[in-house]
Amino acid sequence: MAKSPEEEHPQKAFGWAARDSSGLLSPFHFSRRETGDGDVTIKILYCGVCHSDLHNVKNEWGFTMYPIVPGHEIVGTVTKTGKNVKKFKVGDRVGVGVIVESCKRCESCQQDLENYCPQTILTYNSYSQDGAKTYGGYSDIVVVDEHYVLRFPENLPPDAGAPLLCAGITVYSPMKYYGITEPGKHLGVAGLGGLGHVAVKIGKAFGLKVTVISTSLKKEEEAINKLGADSFLVSSDPAKMKAAINTMDYIIDTVSAVHPLGPLLSLLKLNGKLINVGLPEKPLELPIFPLAMGRKLVGGSDIGGIKETQEMLDFCAKHGITADIELIKMGDINTAMERLAKSDVKYRFVIDVANSLSQ
Ligand code: NAP
Ligand code: ZN
Repeated sequence: MAKSPEEEHPQKAFGWAARDSSGLLSPFHFSRRETGDGDVTIKILYCGVCHSDLHNVKNEWGFTMYPIVPGHEIVGTVTKTGKNVKKFKVGDRVGVGVIVESCKRCESCQQDLENYCPQTILTYNSYSQDGAKTYGGYSDIVVVDEHYVLRFPENLPPDAGAPLLCAGITVYSPMKYYGITEPGKHLGVAGLGGLGHVAVKIGKAFGLKVTVISTSLKKEEEAINKLGADSFLVSSDPAKMKAAINTMDYIIDTVSAVHPLGPLLSLLKLNGKLINVGLPEKPLELPIFPLAMGRKLVGGSDIGGIKETQEMLDFCAKHGITADIELIKMGDINTAMERLAKSDVKYRFVIDVANSLSQ
């Protein structure tokens, strides 16, 4: 008979899991593998709450394996190292993002793009190469191959820095790949949530002109005065949308729900690029006329490789970029998820795991 999650491995672990598509999280005892020769064991301090966690706990993408312990914006302290570990020692402050294993041999892995490896293993809701199920950062400890562990810069706060491990790299990587780094170019950021608000900050650090494209008029004042955006466009205001036609070089679309792409494409100039990183549960409709008429490009992007994630953390540390967060206790997670579903968070919930995960 298969062993229970609690008895499967030698290291006892405790977290919060969802058991069904209600998405409600509750305490969950499970276990982690022994610290292997190339592994580090990490005591989790903080974990960000990504909208992907919400999609997953509610099985909106259709591939959730319950029970699921979400969380892939993890910051913690190394408590054990395997004998072959070179990058880290006990006591180091480290981060873990969305991926924890890949094949290390394929074309993607060879190019430091482990995120595009066909055999990539996610931090939660995946099966490890050894057959064990992965559980994420809404928990006390995690055991990870050192290759997938990030050095967390000393001057980044561990709570407000945690969201960079997914939200940060997800917007930084397409900026680098699609050349959205040229000072003075005009970037639109659609959706001012966890990803979107970090995109505004990173875009400004690259010297771009940044316009937020949002459904929430109430976010305008803060977007400009606190986050540093140059302007704010409410997508439901036809006059303002019309005035902004043909003004943007790039748009990074972080919207989590199904929405029309036509209005966004019309905001782009000739040769403009619309990069989708949001992952709505249903396909989006792509109008071809505005695309063809302006020789525009629609692309996508999925998190980033480990090397680039380290580069992004160092970039954010250098430029003083962190997320704007609401720090919550583990016991507040279900309310936080309800609020996240309504875009009611400024701009990322982060769980104070070490101080609030009691058994
Ligand atoms: P979030 O904090 O909930 O932000 C999403 C924003 O989208 C909201 O704040 C809201 O902004 C806007 N929005 C929500 N519903 C909308 C609707 N019906 N119509 C128009 N706009 C709407 O989510 P997040 O954590 O930033 O994640 C955003 C998406 O990216 C999710 O789908 C997530 O799964 C995905 N994601 C992808 C990757 C990747 O590697 N590609 C990585 C992480 C996350 P306004 O209030 O400003 O309109
Ligand atoms: Zn995420």
